[in-house]
Amino acid sequence: MNQLRIVGGTVYDPANGVSGEVRDICIDDGRIVDSLPASARRLDASGMVVMPGGVDIHSHVASGSVNLARRLLPEEHEADPAAAPALTGGDVARSGTGGTIPSTFTTGYRYAGLGYTTVFDAAVAPIMARTSHGELDDTPIVDAGFFVLMGNDEYLLRLVAAGERAQAREYAAWLLGAAGGYAIKVVNPGGVELWKRGARDRVGLDTPVGSERVTPRAILETLVEAANGLGLPHAAHIHCNDLGVAGNVATTLASMRAVEGRRAHFTHLQFHAYDAAPDGTRRSGARPLIEYINAHPEISGDVGQVMFGAATTLTADGAVEYLLHKSSGRRWVNVDIELETGCGVVPHTYKEKNAVSALQWVVGLELFLLAADPWRMVLSTDHPNGGSFLAYPELIRLLMDRGYRDSCLARVNQTLLAGSAMADGIGREYTLDEIAIVTRAGPARLLGLTRKGHLGPGADADVTVYARDEDVSKMFATPRYVVKGGTLVVEEGQLRRAPRGQRLHVRPGYDGAVETPLREFFDRHATVSFRNYPVGDLRDTPIMVGRT
Ligand SMILES: [Zn+2]
Repeated sequence: MNQLRIVGGTVYDPANGVSGEVRDICIDDGRIVDSLPASARRLDASGMVVMPGGVDIHSHVASGSVNLARRLLPEEHEADPAAAPALTGGDVARSGTGGTIPSTFTTGYRYAGLGYTTVFDAAVAPIMARTSHGELDDTPIVDAGFFVLMGNDEYLLRLVAAGERAQAREYAAWLLGAAGGYAIKVVNPGGVELWKRGARDRVGLDTPVGSERVTPRAILETLVEAANGLGLPHAAHIHCNDLGVAGNVATTLASMRAVEGRRAHFTHLQFHAYDAAPDGTRRSGARPLIEYINAHPEISGDVGQVMFGAATTLTADGAVEYLLHKSSGRRWVNVDIELETGCGVVPHTYKEKNAVSALQWVVGLELFLLAADPWRMVLSTDHPNGGSFLAYPELIRLLMDRGYRDSCLARVNQTLLAGSAMADGIGREYTLDEIAIVTRAGPARLLGLTRKGHLGPGADADVTVYARDEDVSKMFATPRYVVKGGTLVVEEGQLRRAPRGQRLHVRPGYDGAVETPLREFFDRHATVSFRNYPVGDLRDTPIMVGRT
């Protein structure tokens, strides 16, 4: 029962050193096993490519800002109605809407249809965590979790001001468990709080936030130490200060130096890798950034590639959205979230003929193509900020096919590209092995998910089978088969089953003494009572935390 042998495929499983070998993959009761009896059900994958299911380390699918974005863009719903899939086997099929921010059920169906089986929402305000869990409950198939916003949290900033970093670590542990989150997220540390107080200047690393002791640097140090001290499976996940502005690569490098020698993950680095030309315009700053990362094995990143076409920018970094609204004139939402963070949404279109869009596209590709270690520079578009997750196959083609990439490069606006590595020519073409690393094995390892991103015995039976196609973007857009937790969810390219996914979360132990002053703080300042704040028990057991 529940056994399946995937026969004769060409397997790419870089975590286990398997590179393009024809071998069978055996599945028993939701896990990969060494062998199966000859009588087990068989799936013929002859001539096809077999990889672990995709793992998305940074996406936005289930947060308050995602819902605001859905409400802001009703025309997207009308333009892309998503009919209920023809499921078999008793799963209830739901219709929905697509666009850059699909509805919950459609999000699960489309990720699975792309061969992705694990997804993380990168930015949830803890006060909104209950909503996010509700949304993930309605996002079928994929295993999912979220990162908890802490970089502008009022209580945390007070602990930093008091020099109480050990207490800050205990508070972070409590907050992760209360929210049912997976990792610590830092967005524009201190900068969102400054924005809420009316500041409009660049932040850098050493601007005081109220107290002289509270600076972006101090917040970064505190939360990186908390993630490592608590033994969390994933490092602190950092969105640096000064996103988008000319010269911000200096801030990004200073942030990396501030935590040098300590494990840290820097996200959507494309948006943080701009040099400034003498006239103040943006230029590529990818080279010095990737050189630093190449030389520092404790640092990892994801790219946040921009793809031409429609996108929706949504972030806790409210200041960025204000500036984008001002420069683009597109419709806009900004929200302050009490005591915790901010949030903003602006739709955006990246155009080949727009100088800044073209620069962003080039900077992202440079980060991929100059990265010495693909395990530490993994694929993301910061969905839906740089583009939809549905653009991943096109991005894979850009990485694998230099001729295609150069023909695209020739079409884009060249104004800001002088001196960039791409303009000078980069010959590298990703192999299927490297694609398997940046889309599944690498993110799984960075997330500390020991049963994801590989096909060794004991791994979750999340497997994607692609029919080869000369156009790799077609191959990766429409997998022939997808297995999720041992269930065949895509058959002959059609979504057929939609089991519920698991919630990936942690519940680190913490010093109970943290609760007394915290309860007092809630009574005094919050609209939610301390007792009602935690989301309570979740259906799935927490992932083990390595704290000793
Ligand atoms: Zn993001």
